[in-house]
Amino acid sequence: MKNVLSRLGMRRIAVSDLSGQEWCEKQMELSHLHPKKPTVEMAFGSAAHYEMQKRVYVSLEIEPRVYPDRMYKEGYEAYVNLAAMRSKGVCRELKVYGSVNAYEIAGKIDELKLEKGAVSIIDDKAVDAEKADASDYVPRTYAVQLFLYRKLLSDIRSRRYNYENFASSRKLGSMPLSKEFEMALAEIGIRDSLMSIEGIYKKMFEELYALPEISSRLELRYIDNKSREHLKSIFIQYDEKQLTDVLRDCMKYWNGERDARPVPMKERWKCKRCRFFGNECKVWFGEEEGKVA
Ligand code: SF4
Repeated sequence: MKNVLSRLGMRRIAVSDLSGQEWCEKQMELSHLHPKKPTVEMAFGSAAHYEMQKRVYVSLEIEPRVYPDRMYKEGYEAYVNLAAMRSKGVCRELKVYGSVNAYEIAGKIDELKLEKGAVSIIDDKAVDAEKADASDYVPRTYAVQLFLYRKLLSDIRSRRYNYENFASSRKLGSMPLSKEFEMALAEIGIRDSLMSIEGIYKKMFEELYALPEISSRLELRYIDNKSREHLKSIFIQYDEKQLTDVLRDCMKYWNGERDARPVPMKERWKCKRCRFFGNECKVWFGEEEGKVA
């Protein structure tokens, strides 16, 4: 079977792909094959994230010219915002990296917070206040997402996944910055040792190695789409065994050992909300049309 990553036009697996497999693996695959145009809901979600980000985030105000410049900017901002967490107690929008079964994994943590000498991981979900679920139920997709963030961050902190792994997988040594970008960095006083992608990511990883213990109490925080107010938080406990079982099963798909699985019969209700229902996916269509419970 053709390599799954290349068939889907991907270089690495996102945390959202792995958590998406918990919702419907077939839907996750189809989302890559038929990418969605941005919607109003997506714009609201991003706006809510942006509002929260701008309260604490420090940006590098230099326009990237080429891809290595963009990567530098990301690494620089991560380094500066991680360092600032010591005084501010919070760091937003942190990209994390790692590997599972030799596959590269990447994700973005909404917020890290220093609490009682440990780092807490928070995932924000922007929702309509009137539609917010009153129960404290945490869907498996959300739980897996939070578990993965904790695993990736803990792996880096313990150097199980380190700067050298990252540099070699991303081929950082062959990523020169544009001359214009370098000059702009020099103008704002960036020192020579941080003037390359390798230099800045080394520094960023040093900040991650130095993090205090990562809390196993994970927070799912619901934010009102419109007012951006904090509606409620639900806390769950990291479960290594559950994550290992989930990843073992997910990897069978990425290894090409099985095709993408549709939702099981008892979860057909998900199909009604799926944009592929009756189009690219006809698994529960046809005789089930109009009868999806
Ligand atoms: S229609 Fe149902 S089974 Fe098919 S991709 Fe969508 S959610 Fe999955």
